[in-house]
Amino acid sequence: MSECLFCRIISGEIAGNVVYRDEQLTAFRDINPQAPTHVLIVPNEHLTSTAEMGQQQVPLMGRIVQVAAELARQEGLQAGGYRLVVNTGPDAGQSVGHFHLHLLGGRRMGWPPG
Ligand code: AMP
Repeated sequence: MSECLFCRIISGEIAGNVVYRDEQLTAFRDINPQAPTHVLIVPNEHLTSTAEMGQQQVPLMGRIVQVAAELARQEGLQAGGYRLVVNTGPDAGQSVGHFHLHLLGGRRMGWPPG
């Protein structure tokens, strides 16, 4: 049994509001949404953060961004736009140690992020 929360959502051991799944990645709605659309796109294989990334993950990262863009279209975010966020480590506020791309949209956002 995995200790990792997102591995457990991916395996179905913990229920998640899954909006997309394929052999490489899973996307599910954030449990504490920070925007009308807040979806997390995660690799099925455990990867802690971008700090662990190497050449091997390059195609996977491209695929994750492609799926994020497709989900944004499905969520009707094309016209208004959206934000893709990756937090790495404590200074960025990463709270789950399984790489995830946040897809946020449906409201106007400020910059710089807090
Ligand atoms: P981060 O702070 O970048 O590590 O983001 C982790 C995200 O995971 C936060 O936005 C949390 O709200 C979200 N989260 C934590 N537990 C769950 C869960 N069980 N299902 C869906 N999202 C979760």
